[in-house]
Amino acid sequence: MAHTRLVELFLELARLDGLSGKEAPVANFAGNFLKKLGFPAQFDGAAEVSGSNTSNVVCPVGGGGAIVLLAHMDTARPTAQTKQVVTADRVTSDGKWQLGADNRAGMAAILYALERAVDTGLPLKPFTVAFTTQEETTMAGGRNLGLPPGIRHGFVFDSSLDPGCYAIASPGAAVFSAHVTGRPSHAGIAPEKGISAIHIAAKALAGLEFGRHDEETTSNIGTIAGGEATNVVAAYALVRGEVRSLDKAKVPPVLDRIKAEFEKAAAAAGGNAKFDWAWDFQPYRHDKESEVCRLAETALRAAGLEPSAVPSHGGSDANSLNAKGVATVNFGIGARNPHADDEYILLEHLTKASEIVWQLIKK
Ligand SMILES: [Zn+2]
Repeated sequence: MAHTRLVELFLELARLDGLSGKEAPVANFAGNFLKKLGFPAQFDGAAEVSGSNTSNVVCPVGGGGAIVLLAHMDTARPTAQTKQVVTADRVTSDGKWQLGADNRAGMAAILYALERAVDTGLPLKPFTVAFTTQEETTMAGGRNLGLPPGIRHGFVFDSSLDPGCYAIASPGAAVFSAHVTGRPSHAGIAPEKGISAIHIAAKALAGLEFGRHDEETTSNIGTIAGGEATNVVAAYALVRGEVRSLDKAKVPPVLDRIKAEFEKAAAAAGGNAKFDWAWDFQPYRHDKESEVCRLAETALRAAGLEPSAVPSHGGSDANSLNAKGVATVNFGIGARNPHADDEYILLEHLTKASEIVWQLIKK
């Protein structure tokens, strides 16, 4: 059964409003909490580039060590008005709003383990704790995270898998934009003079396949915009979408096909198509025998859990850390139905998540 203190701490964290980019109340709470325990919590200065109203909280314990334990501070929707309900086996909302277990449960698991470690005088190894901004939107917090130089391995507490499971691989997503330019003209008086950018975009899209390309690769047209008025031949259209894969090498060829189709359709109509793309987050995949998996599985077993390495379908701060060269996996903490009105976490899972933290930080 979960310790009352752990549940209280989670409820307190979940009540704080910290929408993506506005995490300051959460950052201040976490910073003060760590300092009160005697830990050197700092702000890493990432706000200058991330656009959030706070920097990430970074706390190097014993000089920072070689591992970082991480959770994100933002929620996808506001949580301050959520009516929290604690039952015999779980914490949930009243079903009308997001609870905020994603990812305040991860923060609570880390902070509770640290508090208990101080209270009981647990000998600690050097390690770093990081709480990031903007994971739910741009991942700009994690991407610009300022870590101590010795960090080699990362453990993110932000997967909705059961405790014991961890994400050994995760897809990357590239976001693309096709800017199509035609020529405006009066649609009734001189349609012959116009080149419709919308028609070019439509022809390009009609020649492409979207959806699932193979077991690990998908693509999607997300938004389309263009035109000014019904009586003007559309001079401009913008098509945006993503290509996602567990295999980094499979993404550029799909993007190339999309680019070629837009260029072909634009050239045929006498218009122009400018195509650009960038990684939203990069994929990662670890070998089961790698050091980070060995460390993860040792901690899971010590916490009384059976390790299970599974590929994830979404991105997290683990993608950003891996892209920076910090080998990172994402632990399941069991926070279910993230972002939804029926989001909940089992008390047993909250306890197990904190137990994993405990095993990682103890000497
Ligand atoms: Zn999350």
